[in-house]
Amino acid sequence: MKETKNRCLGALIGLAIGNALGAPFEYIDMEKLPEINDFHSGGIYNLNAGEWTDDVSMALCLAESLIEDGFDFDSQMKKYLKWIDEGLYSCKKTAFGIDNQTMDALIQYEKDASLPKIIDKDSHKPLARLAPIPMYFKNSFNDAVFYSGQSAYTTHNNIYSIHSCKFIGGFIQQAINGATKRVLLEEVHRHMDLIYDVKLKIVDVTYKDINDLINDGKAINSLEIALWTIHNTNSFKDAVLTAVRFGGDTDTLGAIVGQMSGALYGLENIPKVWLLKLAKKDMILELAEKLCNK
Ligand SMILES: [Mg+2]
Repeated sequence: MKETKNRCLGALIGLAIGNALGAPFEYIDMEKLPEINDFHSGGIYNLNAGEWTDDVSMALCLAESLIEDGFDFDSQMKKYLKWIDEGLYSCKKTAFGIDNQTMDALIQYEKDASLPKIIDKDSHKPLARLAPIPMYFKNSFNDAVFYSGQSAYTTHNNIYSIHSCKFIGGFIQQAINGATKRVLLEEVHRHMDLIYDVKLKIVDVTYKDINDLINDGKAINSLEIALWTIHNTNSFKDAVLTAVRFGGDTDTLGAIVGQMSGALYGLENIPKVWLLKLAKKDMILELAEKLCNK
């Protein structure tokens, strides 16, 4: 397989696998987690092993929207609404796991087609679905960065969420194009116009101890956890397992780290047993193929 294609496919498959590894342990604190080395069943949504949650559903809606319409807010909102109303790209028959902010934004859009106003709440939710953007814009760093930031506006119009999305979009685009881990962690941010608070999290991460990290679901803190995790591991497998072992919003942390490390290490370095056991893997691979062939 061509290396660019390998890394491109790895981004979306990595997102889904990272999410599925964390899905049964959502909202369990780090100290109370069992040992996680593989897919498990259970959790608040009573999932089978290999099944995934809302972050993946939204990523797949975003992927289909990009394939059909390019980057288009209206198209994205309609796909997300179809997920909520009809279970489009849900792992089960209906949608589940929708966060309040996303629900409010979609209800509002259905009423008057307006996107959400600026909010103070900094959330990592939009970070966990964005891999399709840099996959689609894999030939343009600037477009990948810009539209990854834009993708947050549909549900989470918050400056920290937006700038964290911009960074992750640029990271994945560069990873797809073969950037090394050192370049991704130390140099990519220099070519982006990011707010100070987000830059600081990126620049400092290599000096941080695990006890310095804050696992509270905020975009800038989850971005820091993701970068720390990638810095301190050397394979896709170790990266995603380390991410979900933080506890808390485990499926979302798994998705964020899964897409970044999936692009860095490539599909061929994602354990085959996980790909085989991933729920609806053919459907996800088909969308990934379409995005990577664009
Ligand atoms: Mg979650």
